[in-house]
Amino acid sequence: MQSRQTADERKHLRTERGRAQIRYIVIHGAADGRLAAGTSVHYIVLGDRTQQQMREQETAWHCGTRGVYYHPYCRNGNSIGVALCSRVRGGRETFMPDTVYHAQALVRMLMERYGIPAENVLRHYDVTHRTCPVPFVEHAASWTAFCVGLAGTKAKAGSG
Ligand SMILES: [Zn+2]
Repeated sequence: MQSRQTADERKHLRTERGRAQIRYIVIHGAADGRLAAGTSVHYIVLGDRTQQQMREQETAWHCGTRGVYYHPYCRNGNSIGVALCSRVRGGRETFMPDTVYHAQALVRMLMERYGIPAENVLRHYDVTHRTCPVPFVEHAASWTAFCVGLAGTKAKAGSG
């Protein structure tokens, strides 16, 4: 089972795609910086450090499922995966404000680069109902705030 899955993933990883095919951005959480086994994303954000894991033209394996898709269109093949590193303390998973801030900047840049509208920025949860990213699923208000921040102009002072 494991080896077969890996072969499928490798095939996906090598698939090149054009600009016009990139229509969604999917946000993930990486608990203590770790991605789920067998998954890949294009970017991982931790504080002010943004690490590119693979080229945007490559398809990452980050929002696929063998089960039911809850989003009609968003798939690995037409999306960019961005993971925010979270901190797990006492069973609670949270994003540091710094990480959220820099992830917003990255997502805004990707939205501009590919002409992706704000409504096409999704949580992994919105695609497959997997509880990911945990902080944005458990606290819907923080996801709303993240999205509002995408639409906003440059960084505004305050509201720490
Ligand atoms: Zn995810």
